[in-house]
Amino acid sequence: MLAGRELTDALLVSAGTNTKKALRKGRKARYSTTTSAEITFRATPLTSRVVSENVLGFIEGSDKKEEVVVVTAHYDHIGKDAEEVYNGADDDGSGTVALLEMAEAFSRAKAEGHGPRRSVLFMPVSAEEKGLLGSEYYSEHPVFPLEHTVADLNIDMIGRRDSAHAVGAPYVYVIGSDRLSTELHAINEEANAKYVSLDLDYTFNAPDDPNRFYYRSDHYNFARKGVPAIFYFSGVHEDYHGPGDEVEKILPDLLEQRARLVFYTAWELANREQRIVVDRPEGSK
Ligand SMILES: [Zn+2]
Repeated sequence: MLAGRELTDALLVSAGTNTKKALRKGRKARYSTTTSAEITFRATPLTSRVVSENVLGFIEGSDKKEEVVVVTAHYDHIGKDAEEVYNGADDDGSGTVALLEMAEAFSRAKAEGHGPRRSVLFMPVSAEEKGLLGSEYYSEHPVFPLEHTVADLNIDMIGRRDSAHAVGAPYVYVIGSDRLSTELHAINEEANAKYVSLDLDYTFNAPDDPNRFYYRSDHYNFARKGVPAIFYFSGVHEDYHGPGDEVEKILPDLLEQRARLVFYTAWELANREQRIVVDRPEGSK
């Protein structure tokens, strides 16, 4: 960015010169001149107060109820732009409905006497689009201690296909599964092989992936606190953060298949004998 005359004058004051003088000096020297000055920047961030709420649906476990498996999906989206409403059917209506279906399945299982051994917290979080604020708040003020939190399974956009998978086998991107716990990664793969048969795409799990999706949804607020986490995602598309992210474009069979993978993984995490181990504690960096 080129600085205007007022700004350059102001910046050069402390060097005892101004733009005109500096340019003249530069012309005399036939190419350029350098001037050192000490500059202090002061910035006042623009802040606004937003009030929002996470929703917590708790299914108490049986013999291991102190330990909690968390399932998250953000229920906010980006709102309205003049007359245009951004419904966010994929981002993250898809994750929110998958979470509700799973919550129903777990609570029905419990009502029929087959409830989970560990507790399961279904938590639609808010203000993700404002900077992961809802999950950040929870991770700083957890209702159930994070030391007892086994894992977070986060669903954010699982209802469509991206251009890399416009045709072909059903797939889902799996991000973060192996960063903190190799067992979590293995459980998700086993659940998939046994019940769901999706192509698991780890492209965005590469530590040097330029999209940095690992840091861009709510699971990260658990991972940065040392809680193993998986982010399930089907990729961005032409309607991402646009008014065209509508329910007619959701692929229901694929959404269901992906939701089943999250369900079976959650079921195993909640019911296996041993709590999964964090064997790569530095993995969230
Ligand atoms: Zn989202």
